[in-house]
Amino acid sequence: MRNDIEKIILSEGNIADIVEELGEQITNDYKNKDLLVICVLKGSFHFTSDLTRAIKIPCDVEFIQLSSYENDKSTEKIKLIKDFSCSLENRDVLVVEDIVDTGITLSYVVDIIKEKSPASIKVCTLIDKSKNRKTNIKVDYVGESIEDGFVVGYGLDYNEKYRNLSYIGILKNNIFNN
Ligand code: 5GP
Repeated sequence: MRNDIEKIILSEGNIADIVEELGEQITNDYKNKDLLVICVLKGSFHFTSDLTRAIKIPCDVEFIQLSSYENDKSTEKIKLIKDFSCSLENRDVLVVEDIVDTGITLSYVVDIIKEKSPASIKVCTLIDKSKNRKTNIKVDYVGESIEDGFVVGYGLDYNEKYRNLSYIGILKNNIFNN
């Protein structure tokens, strides 16, 4: 474990188990549907990569990039950095998030998608921090619920660092002061 991680909350093995289970559920729920998986960059790139390989039916993958965090604080001001490059019309859209905290980012994504006339929209997140929720957005698939703490690893960053950790852990408090 790296010195700046306080505690591992999901090991590589835990993540693999969660991904397999979510993949199975999604495979069952989307049989005979036109599944389009949307990866919300950058944080969900590992999760989307693993999850789509655990989904055993055909699916397309599309990317959107937003930014909402500065250091460890949600700014509540969202910037669209990369928009969709394909049509979402009549597609069964599954948004894949790394973490849902206040829910503001996800609400923003879902609102953009709704304007593009999909057949359906569902949301899958690896981590749910529902205690901090400020919107009433529905999350359909949750990998793991956590109470609090700023987590990094497996795509999740702090100032663009730690995305390449194969596990997810809580960052030590003193890192935020450096
Ligand atoms: P929300 O809009 O729900 O407050 O935040 C969503 C985005 O904020 C996530 O996609 C993620 O990029 C970032 N975020 C929220 N909580 C955490 C956290 O504990 N760790 C990291 N690294 N990013 C977080």
